[in-house]
Amino acid sequence: MKSWEKEDILIIDKGKGNYLFDVNGKRYLDGVSSLWANVHGHRHPRIDAAINRQLKKIAHSTFLGLSHPGAIILSKMLIDIAPEGLERVFYSDSGATAVEIAIKIALQYWFNIGKHQRHIFVSLNNAYHGDTIGSVSVGGIGLFHATYKPLLFKTIKAPSPYCYRCELGLDYPSCKLACVKKIDDILTKNEGRVAALVLEPMIQAAGGFIISPPGYLTAAGRIAKRHDVLLILDEVATGFGRTGKMFACEHEGVHPDIMAVAKGISAGYLPLAATFTTQNIYNAFLGEYAEKKTFYHGHTYTANPLAVAAAIANLELFQKEKIIQKLQPKIRLLSRGLEKIKKLQHVGQIRRIGMMTGIELVLDKKTKQPYPFEQRTGAKVCSEIRKYGIILRPLDDVIVLMPPLSITEQQIAHLLASVEKAIRAVTEI
Ligand SMILES: *Cc1c(COP(=O)(O)O)cnc(C)c1O
Repeated sequence: MKSWEKEDILIIDKGKGNYLFDVNGKRYLDGVSSLWANVHGHRHPRIDAAINRQLKKIAHSTFLGLSHPGAIILSKMLIDIAPEGLERVFYSDSGATAVEIAIKIALQYWFNIGKHQRHIFVSLNNAYHGDTIGSVSVGGIGLFHATYKPLLFKTIKAPSPYCYRCELGLDYPSCKLACVKKIDDILTKNEGRVAALVLEPMIQAAGGFIISPPGYLTAAGRIAKRHDVLLILDEVATGFGRTGKMFACEHEGVHPDIMAVAKGISAGYLPLAATFTTQNIYNAFLGEYAEKKTFYHGHTYTANPLAVAAAIANLELFQKEKIIQKLQPKIRLLSRGLEKIKKLQHVGQIRRIGMMTGIELVLDKKTKQPYPFEQRTGAKVCSEIRKYGIILRPLDDVIVLMPPLSITEQQIAHLLASVEKAIRAVTEI
């Protein structure tokens, strides 16, 4: 806070396409999609029009006990694109609430079918599922979460699939996915007592853009199934095309029992989130009034009609403009462009899946020794790159590139050239 008070804070006034404009009219490429949310650029005419149309009808009506046409249409559209088996949607308003809801649904599912002893949650080190207490409980980032430990419910943590800095001191592939075997060990040891395994599929995003090795997600899914444990996937960061597929779990054909989405669902326009479940889980909540099997959970702005209108326009764009298909050449360009940055003296590893890239900076490339925390190396690079008209936000010393899917090839080239210059300026002095 002390250094922040002395900083010149950039004040964003406007946006257009993939650019943001500050109050002085200076233009910046939105290199992190306004925190991993924006999909098609700012002020997209179709999304703006959809929100405007909805505004002429009503801005908000409650979803508690009532419904509205947009929510009905959106539910159908979401179920159509969701991984196989997910047939029901529960709306809320942020990634953290979508995960809290997933946790509560999982626990109550077991409770409602009479398996009261299944109440343990297994999650990963380096996991991030949001900043509310329940989501922090299944999270595993020391820096963000350690202080709140007395408030958290107990979970069992499995190793992070962080091959670059393997917790088990092993190497892929000779490790034979020993980290996933640890999940099996935990579930075996706690047989019949685990409610769910909670994972970010393919990439632990806020944990440092940690991409799981091939086969990890498949194996984790298989293990959960074998132990009759629900698989909760948090697609809040990865959903809606970020990884080059609509949902990250499609990369390994894994079908969760519960899935949380937010960020990109409304194209990054307005707060909206959804938690998907299978029909089987939904059915466990059907009971006579007096049985009290209902899911007692609601937020004031659940399924806000304006946010829902943005989400419908978002999904229509995906379909009409073949966004996922058109993304592939951009991903290839990004991948090729990163080769040069990989060679820089202080770039330890580059981890990329689809349009999500993390560049881990290290003091010593050979020993992987990190920079001292207080040196704020990542922050310095992101501050340097503003000179080139780009906004980035790092995760410690991991430089994150997560532009809107609408970024052009030219803008990718500018982004990469600037990233190289900024990294060199900060690390090669
Ligand atoms: C951002 C994020 C969340 C939290 O979403 P909010 O909308 O900020 O509450 C949860 N899980 C993952 C994987 C995220 O990246």
